[in-house]
Amino acid sequence: MAAHQEKKPPEERKHRSTQNDARTSQVQWGRAWEVDWFSLASILFLLMFAPFIVYYFIMSCDQYQCSLIDPLTDLFTGNRHLSDIWNKTPTLTYRAAGIYTLWVAFQVFLYVFIPDFCHKFLPGYVGGVQEGAVTPAGAVNKYEINGLQAWIITHVLWFANAYYFHWFSPTIIFDNWIPLLWCANVLGYAVSTFAMIKSYFFPTNAEDCKFTGNFFYDYMMGIEFNPRIGKWFDFKLFFNGRPGIVAWTLINLSYAAKQQELYGQVTNSMILVNVLQGIYVLDFFWNEAWYLKTIDICHDHFGWYLGWGDCVWLPYLYTLQGLYLVYHPVQLCTANTIGVLVLGLIGYYIFRMTNHQKDLFRRTNGNCKIWGKKPEYIECSYMSVDGTKYYSKLMTSGFWGWARHFNYTGDLMGSLAYCLTCGFQHILPYFYIVYMTILLTHRCIRDEHRCFSKYGKDWKRYTAAVPYRLIPGIF
Ligand code: NDP
Repeated sequence: MAAHQEKKPPEERKHRSTQNDARTSQVQWGRAWEVDWFSLASILFLLMFAPFIVYYFIMSCDQYQCSLIDPLTDLFTGNRHLSDIWNKTPTLTYRAAGIYTLWVAFQVFLYVFIPDFCHKFLPGYVGGVQEGAVTPAGAVNKYEINGLQAWIITHVLWFANAYYFHWFSPTIIFDNWIPLLWCANVLGYAVSTFAMIKSYFFPTNAEDCKFTGNFFYDYMMGIEFNPRIGKWFDFKLFFNGRPGIVAWTLINLSYAAKQQELYGQVTNSMILVNVLQGIYVLDFFWNEAWYLKTIDICHDHFGWYLGWGDCVWLPYLYTLQGLYLVYHPVQLCTANTIGVLVLGLIGYYIFRMTNHQKDLFRRTNGNCKIWGKKPEYIECSYMSVDGTKYYSKLMTSGFWGWARHFNYTGDLMGSLAYCLTCGFQHILPYFYIVYMTILLTHRCIRDEHRCFSKYGKDWKRYTAAVPYRLIPGIF
């Protein structure tokens, strides 16, 4: 096991239990050990169709002005054949391969070789070496939190190039969007396959690996919990945050530059998308240390779902609004602009405050104030694989008393705001809110299933105290 892992639970009380308890907990805690038919069917569907879904959306914009219906109509009426669409699709180019390799190599360089200096001068920012949550095997990983710094350096260079150096056009991402898609797929598949092989032959922490025996499930949901190369290159933190999320704001900037090039102006809808999504991305990096305590890092294993998803799905489908606005430069009236902005900002506020309340509560072990009062909570306990019993708390105050996942509700309000910037002419930009609703509802159910397995009857007491998931009184 790597030197950075120690069996040291954070701020939670613990005592040892029997081996029998340990085995029970090993079966129950963490992602599934056995695959039900529904999960397997969903996984096979995603493995087969997710790359085509991404291709379909991007191709629709490239060849059909972002209409999702017209390609199907053309195919069904025999107006065009699949081969016509495919032959018109830009292929992989040396230029795109070069850009992509440089991009990923630069992000690896920033991640591995530049220790965080932002926390030394930014008040309130938590960066540098931080600890993650305790894993099912009882390990605590250390992470170098330097995402904000990587984001700042990358964007400073981007603007320096756009306004001063002119090494490349700021529309470079848009101009190579489909050739770059092939590169992102190559990386997504390569890293997922590598992670699978690694988990069999040289896992970082064998005790945290999970094998279901089903190849497809293991490939999709991952076997290793926290695969690493060397002491610091953590797959989950790197691929989740960069290159996908650092790229998110650059991709939007490239779309804005393309609008400027094509129409001589940037529309207010494009500015809204850039600002609202920019806040979301900056929030992610400002709170990267908090992110170590989210489901992605704490509970998900690293497989195709995260590897391919971070390389392809996220940068291509989370940025559809900006792409759409290049083809349809919507100019919103003042009332709509303000409405969308307010919805986006309220959504962001709820998202951030809910996450902040839980973080504060957990960090201080309940010794804090939520909305001016001492928080109320339910005491609960759980077990790790080595038979150690831990105690934890589930808060029932603040937004966590309104609903069990009110942070998701805020996230969904923000997501809707991004989509609304595009008006109502096409459904393509609304993919994001549909997807996020499915993702976060599924995540609610998945998380609650896991929490029930982890906390048992204590979780039941909590759901009785806070009966709704997303919308108080409704769901
Ligand atoms: P949460 O931050 O809600 O974390 C859930 C975990 O928090 C539970 O597993 C449990 O973990 C703990 N918990 C649950 N209830 C309580 C409580 N009442 N008091 C204290 N702790 C509690 O979920 P995520 O990690 O999924 O999401 C983090 C954020 O990221 C969300 O705001 C979400 O909207 C966003 N997100 C965005 C995505 C995107 O693609 N844009 C994708 C996924 C998430 P424990 O085992 O520690 O008790």
